[in-house]
Amino acid sequence: MRLRDCPIAFFFNKQLATALANAQRHQVLMAIMFLDLDGFGKINQELTHPVADLLLQSFARRLSACLRSGDTLARWGGDEFIILLPQIRNAEDTIKLAQRILSELKQPFEIADCQQYVKTSIGIALYPQDGEDGETMVKNADIALFCAKEQGRNRYHFYSPSMTSKASLLLKLENLLRHAIEQNELSLHYQPQIDLKTKSLTGMEALLRWVHPELGQVSPLKLIPLAEETDLIVSLSEWILQAACRQNLLWQQAGLPCIPIAVNFSIRQFQHPDFVKMVTSILKETGLDPRWLEIEITESAIATNKDYARTTIQELSLMGVRFAIDDYGTGDVSLSYLQQFPCHKLKIDRPLIAALKDNPQDSAMISAIIATGRSFNLRVIAEGIETPEQLKILQYLQCEEGQGYYLGRPLKSEEAIHFLTHNWVEAT
Ligand code: C2E
Ligand code: MG
Ligand code: MG
Repeated sequence: MRLRDCPIAFFFNKQLATALANAQRHQVLMAIMFLDLDGFGKINQELTHPVADLLLQSFARRLSACLRSGDTLARWGGDEFIILLPQIRNAEDTIKLAQRILSELKQPFEIADCQQYVKTSIGIALYPQDGEDGETMVKNADIALFCAKEQGRNRYHFYSPSMTSKASLLLKLENLLRHAIEQNELSLHYQPQIDLKTKSLTGMEALLRWVHPELGQVSPLKLIPLAEETDLIVSLSEWILQAACRQNLLWQQAGLPCIPIAVNFSIRQFQHPDFVKMVTSILKETGLDPRWLEIEITESAIATNKDYARTTIQELSLMGVRFAIDDYGTGDVSLSYLQQFPCHKLKIDRPLIAALKDNPQDSAMISAIIATGRSFNLRVIAEGIETPEQLKILQYLQCEEGQGYYLGRPLKSEEAIHFLTHNWVEAT
């Protein structure tokens, strides 16, 4: 990591250079701590920027109250802060300070008449063992912070050389992904969605696939968050939506039945300021009629910023785009959302279907979701149907649609044609 060039960083770097020279001359230990707020992106969106700024200022004041007079605290950018401890006796000193900071944050902040709880993660690098120059020290404290976050946040972590290989692996992965997007190494698979009564095909869900020659198959559950760490998520989102819309149009042009194609969007993708613009322009560019696109988002994507979600869903729905709520039923269900947001479908989360055995109690949640769907005029689809028994129970409960390995695995586009041509599923 390059040391930054702004005046604060300039001041900090000067202090750091002096501290390093002093530590070298007098053979003393020193430390750098790198901090950022856990989940600040979400806080920022919920509180609005000016209020989030006040929170950052209060956070900085609380941090600075934990320090001694010779220590330096600087805001490194966004919600990142850096602390220089020019002289410590041993690593224990930094542990005590880190623990104190974490414990100070147990008290909420009073911001704009509200109590706001904040947590932080801390990465620590020590001189001389973790670096002998400023740039290396800062870089290694940042790597340690990355590991603290990965291990569950709200904790501190010391740097260790093995972390560098992990961080560089991540960097390598980022480059690989960039390459994969540029070189078209990504693909979409399509999983059929079936009407459980008529047995006909009602839609296809597009699922991202990346098979790397050495890494093997990289799950979308890893790939999407990785891309979200960088600006790659923008081109990845565009690539996925474009590929799905194009494929659907190709099927239609081949005379196959018109069905909606479902495309998943993570919270961050959905909340990207250009989301509506991107969807609109890709629909226009590919020429797919908007009613053949279904956007899958989770409940939390709606709950995190309701106003944004409402206008976004309304705007796209007006064009004809449909919305489905993915993984429904295991989160905090708020029925009022269903009334407020013009969605089309509820997708019952896989674990609920997996728990379906013969016991009628197993199906209580599912019956409730089906009844909810009916009351709100939403279609209900069960995800992850793996056995004929699960299918039977769902048919008995009059669940409208189903998706799962038993009905059809995610398929390459060539294989998916079979489903579209026959337009029905034997298993049902
Ligand atoms: P999801 O949207 O809930 O998709 C369903 C996942 O369940 C898929 O996993 C699918 O392969 C798997 N699945 C389907 N039927 C069965 C079944 O009968 N049994 C079991 N055990 N699994 C089944 P996949 O493709 O690994 O995707 C995992 C998650 O990654 C998806 O969950 C979705 O949240 C996300 N994802 C996939 N593609 C994309 C994408 O293009 N963009 C975004 N943002 N997320 C994606
Ligand atoms: Mg989905
Ligand atoms: Mg799902």
